Amino acid sequence: MDRVLPRPLISEDELQHRISELAAEIDRDYRDQEPLLCIGILKGSVFFMVDLLKRVTVPVKIDFLQTSSYRSGTTPGEIRIRKDVDIAIRGKHVLIIEDIVDTGHTLSTVLGLFRFRGAKSVKLCALLDKHKAREVAVNVDYSGFKIDNVFVVGYGLDLDERYRELPYIGVYEPDGDEPSEPSEPSE
Ligand code: 5GP
Repeated sequence: MDRVLPRPLISEDELQHRISELAAEIDRDYRDQEPLLCIGILKGSVFFMVDLLKRVTVPVKIDFLQTSSYRSGTTPGEIRIRKDVDIAIRGKHVLIIEDIVDTGHTLSTVLGLFRFRGAKSVKLCALLDKHKAREVAVNVDYSGFKIDNVFVVGYGLDLDERYRELPYIGVYEPDGDEPSEPSEPSE
């Protein structure tokens, strides 16, 4: 069955170019602060994290955290930890790597958790920033692209587990013929 591809918003070349710039910023900032513990938020950050860390030259350790958000009506979702990190956080310089910051609830919870656990420093690197959708203030230390309040897929980002494999970021525009499947909690 043919599928409609999402309308391109950020091309593969634009992504890779910007990711090289972010890696250079991270190298510069963490030159004297190694080792750096990079924690990817599953699953959406995986493509970004791999491309970013292949270009970073300071030594890194990597780990992953998986969260879920449960929304009830219009109430902001309660953030739960589905998979915790394996490496101890205390005393480490932590860099959180995320695909997209939307309302900010996920990242403000995760930042608070790592600070509570005694990280020496906690910074955030997000590929995409839907800054106009923010409900909770979150400081994005390394921001790839600021985007409008649209639903994007590709390059790790999904819609019910589809489209992650696209090498670019596209805007998902439902055409009305999509099969309606139950939604998974967002990750
Ligand atoms: P927040 O807690 O900031 O509202 O949401 C962050 C999470 O929501 C992201 O990690 C991502 O899983 C999901 N999300 C927010 N906006 C989008 C979007 O435009 N596309 C996709 N695929 N996921 C999104």
